[in-house]
Amino acid sequence: MPSPPRFSFELFPPRTPEGVAKLPAVISRLAELKPDYFSVTHGAGGSDQDGTYETILTVVRETGLEAAPHLTCVGSTRANIAAALDRYRSAGVRRIVALRGDLPATALSTEAPGEFKYASDLVCFIRETHGDQFRIEVAAYPEMHPQAQNPGADFDNFVRKVECGADAALTQLFYNADAYFHFVDRCEKAGLRIPIYPGIMPITSYDKTLRFCTGCGADLPRWVRLRLAELENDRDALLDFGLEVVTRLCETLLRNGVPGLHFYTINQAGPTMRLWENLKLSVTA
Ligand code: FAD
Repeated sequence: MPSPPRFSFELFPPRTPEGVAKLPAVISRLAELKPDYFSVTHGAGGSDQDGTYETILTVVRETGLEAAPHLTCVGSTRANIAAALDRYRSAGVRRIVALRGDLPATALSTEAPGEFKYASDLVCFIRETHGDQFRIEVAAYPEMHPQAQNPGADFDNFVRKVECGADAALTQLFYNADAYFHFVDRCEKAGLRIPIYPGIMPITSYDKTLRFCTGCGADLPRWVRLRLAELENDRDALLDFGLEVVTRLCETLLRNGVPGLHFYTINQAGPTMRLWENLKLSVTA
């Protein structure tokens, strides 16, 4: 029998005093949905490793649920990464989302500065130094990473991360389910056996959705973009439309047997909770 879908919620370390004050309540509300774990970004938007670490501790303290730090290696050293891993181990962390991270805007190639060039180097390092003590999740790009030479080269790079020891992958956000299913087919044909969890970004604003999609190279279907533009100044109608689009996407994914969903919460409980209700997902434990 296939296992029930797994759900995870992504947070980022808050950057303002108001964000810090609000976060425990957001986490508590989301925890009512009993996700399998929360993940916490690192480096995205300038957050440092301490911010990630503190947010991981907040999640564990507020919920008792599992929390997985994202660990980026761009610009880092083996010594820094080793120290971060040791600190997480001592805090009881058992799962890491291993990433290269975004390159500085001035970078001339996909090769990161520092002692790790790619996420695959980080995955290999974690396995070499910590064996199976961490479950490792990596990023996957159904619509290709924007800096990749071509889809084939990007896929080969994904395979490398799995060969280095990744246990699972979380995808970049997408609004085109076919891209995800094509990617999963490709993984199956290549003999990759790890689960690929779709990354789900709720739609709550025209500007932000456009910016996210442009930034990561995700296709925003023309009809969705046009309708969001039309509703830009009618917040309630835009939220309803965004909810309908993302609900249908999730329904299609779940109906076709995805292993679970990874929600980009953007540190807000409301959008993820509304999706959850619409999807009639139950609380699993
Ligand atoms: P990689 O897998 O290393 O790939 C990066 C690029 O290099 C790709 O174009 C790939 O094709 C190419 N490449 C890989 N290996 C080789 C090779 N050997 N030779 C040539 N080219 C190669 N960013 C943050 O800063 N913080 C976060 O917390 C964060 N969380 C994320 C969570 C998820 C689920 C996702 C999908 C993305 C996240 N990101 C985060 C964004 C991510 O860091 C960027 O997309 C980054 O540009 C690539 O990271 P990666 O781990 O996918 O890199």
